[in-house]
Amino acid sequence: MPSAIDAAGWRFDNSYTRLPPGLFTRSTPVPVRRPGLVYLNAPLAVALGLDAAALAGPDGAAVFAGNTLPPGADPIAQAYAGHQYGHFTNLGDGRAILLGEHLAPDGSRHDLQLKGSGRTRYSRGGDGRAALGPMLREVLISEAMHALGIPTTRSLAVATTGEAVLREEALPGAVLVRVAASHIRVGTFQYASAVADPALAPALLAHTIRRHDPRLAEIDEPALAFLEAVIDRQAALIARWMQVGFVHGVMNTDNMAVSGETIDYGPCAFLDAYDPTTVFSSIDRQGRYAWANQPGIAHWNLARLAESLLPTISGDAETAMNRISTVLATFPARFARHALAGWRAKLGLLTAEDGDQALVTALLAAMEGIGADFTATFSSLATAAEALAAAPPFDAGPLADWCAAWRTRLGRQPQSLADVAALLRRTNPLVIPRNHRVEEALAAAAAGEMAPFEKLLDAVTHPFTDTPANRSFRDGAPSGCGPYRTFCGT
Ligand code: AMP
Ligand code: MG
Repeated sequence: MPSAIDAAGWRFDNSYTRLPPGLFTRSTPVPVRRPGLVYLNAPLAVALGLDAAALAGPDGAAVFAGNTLPPGADPIAQAYAGHQYGHFTNLGDGRAILLGEHLAPDGSRHDLQLKGSGRTRYSRGGDGRAALGPMLREVLISEAMHALGIPTTRSLAVATTGEAVLREEALPGAVLVRVAASHIRVGTFQYASAVADPALAPALLAHTIRRHDPRLAEIDEPALAFLEAVIDRQAALIARWMQVGFVHGVMNTDNMAVSGETIDYGPCAFLDAYDPTTVFSSIDRQGRYAWANQPGIAHWNLARLAESLLPTISGDAETAMNRISTVLATFPARFARHALAGWRAKLGLLTAEDGDQALVTALLAAMEGIGADFTATFSSLATAAEALAAAPPFDAGPLADWCAAWRTRLGRQPQSLADVAALLRRTNPLVIPRNHRVEEALAAAAAGEMAPFEKLLDAVTHPFTDTPANRSFRDGAPSGCGPYRTFCGT
């Protein structure tokens, strides 16, 4: 008789394991002492065609902790390299195992990865493990990003290990089950082009195109078109991040997925008061990955991808370099186009005018001047738009001048203020994972109390809904909190 786990709906087809062996190492998760399930994303499980009820018990905990392999899994650690803070290093999955690629009922393909599952060939000095707090943090932020409509890896489950991990102190250990379109990074291409085997880069490229850009599979020399597709996805993604005040915090080339999904939630955080120079990561002392620097860094990372694709482009080196530089140079204009479209929606603009970028810039400058809360300012625009119709007009306080210009601009589009307010309400979230709330929830979870985490998760996964339950999660940090810092010691 098949066990409940065998019947849980797993459907693996592990195409990455059919690539040349230089790109990965077969490795199994290191079993943990006492698997326990602290989080299961039941709606995601169902969307993947998995039996959430079967996975909610001890059998599910054993799979998610890495003690039992689901049928069809063929676990590997992937090799990759990366520029970390500008310096090139060989990395690879040092504490993650790709169980395999699961096919959902709609035919879509999803990497299922265990993060914190023990040492691998690529662990270097690390213990291969993860602490509960950072894994729950990844759940909160990734699921919030998904609810905000931003492409991201997802979080299927978190299992505790019953073992301590030693960081600055002993912390409860955990494994996160991450779901991704793939885990192919800019750094994966850097690795493939840096090793001696000339077959790796073309094989990786062909695989990645089949997976993420199948429409390019038929064209003659797809490297340039692939680069263009990745550039466009990243330009769109970074614009989306910035428009919810998200700072990734560690945009190294190994943390940039070619699928265009946000990946690797380490020292990331969301702005409270708007300040474009905001950095959260305690180790980012130069502000390399500050909010406003993210497009420039993405462009720099994409240049590393472009270089890695050179061996897959025919012709002499100079011609190849020229062709690839031309494609790379489209990033700033693509970013500007995606960003402006997004800002227009955030301001309720349903038509396009030349002065729109200036209107955005003026609002951001005014917000910076008064230290306005990023999320609260944008989410107040819907009510403000409705109030514009009323006489006398409302008092916009320090944003009065900007509001007057906005009102004039709205008056030049044919749509009603009700239409404007509706657009504003679906574009500007009421709730984001506020840093002080995240810390509060994680501190409680570390003490064995999961209710604050569950309440916060519920609020941030319904970011556009005005409910009594999420109302209490909208306020900014209490004054006197000081600058927020996140730590890489994950
Ligand atoms: P990250 O900062 O999480 O993007 O990780 C950068 C690199 O360090 C990746 O190759 C990780 O696999 C590796 N790494 C991070 N933490 C650990 C750990 N505790 N043990 C082994 N490798 C790790
Ligand atoms: Mg990483």
